[in-house]
Amino acid sequence: MPTTICWNCEALTQHELVNVNAVSVAGPQHDSRLARPQHDSRLARPRYDSSISRTDRYIAYGAFKCHACQSLAIGIAESPNGSSATGRSVLERADTSFVWAPTAGQTKPYPHAPSHIGDAATEGYECLARNHYRAAIMLTRAVIEATAKHKGIANGNLFQKIDALRDIGVIRAHICDGAHGIRKLGNDMAHGDFTDPITKEDATAAITMMGVILDEVYTAHSIISTVTASADQRKQVLHTGG
Ligand SMILES: [Zn+2]
Repeated sequence: MPTTICWNCEALTQHELVNVNAVSVAGPQHDSRLARPQHDSRLARPRYDSSISRTDRYIAYGAFKCHACQSLAIGIAESPNGSSATGRSVLERADTSFVWAPTAGQTKPYPHAPSHIGDAATEGYECLARNHYRAAIMLTRAVIEATAKHKGIANGNLFQKIDALRDIGVIRAHICDGAHGIRKLGNDMAHGDFTDPITKEDATAAITMMGVILDEVYTAHSIISTVTASADQRKQVLHTGG
């Protein structure tokens, strides 16, 4: 049973094989009625010589269940033939090197934010993971604006909304500076000025800062409520002698 970092819960945990398909990727025996799967460049590509008939190659796709959160990930490996039993034995071997889809780090939940904001933040994170830097930055900018609206700040431009978040005590001064950084990064793109290049570092900084802002606005408050409730409960138990 392979151990890997789960893409969903990020636990380093065992993944149990629950189903297998072994599929022909290339070669004369491929069924032309089926869509041909793309070769994954992370898998070693054996030499395929079109002059040799009956040469084929197969990929085993295994659905693996994370033992921590029960979500599914696909493990992909070379298989010597197209039988699912062989595919299963390949995927169950301890020495098989897997390509995982999704991989950890390709997505990220923001569970403490309201779903309409958390979902947009996740999309921004996934844009960065797929190297869509402009889209990532535009979404971070929109997430900050949506956060301000959720906190009742409907008027003014984004500059004024970010300052208002600080003024009503939702974010601290240094977090406010970071939010303005994202606003500046996203301004050109929001107005259709795509001429200046955007780097991975720019997009990574924006996504990281977006996470810090959502932690400040939502996660910290959620944790504070939990801690306060626990402390109150403990005090009550001690007081009543229970
Ligand atoms: Zn998991």
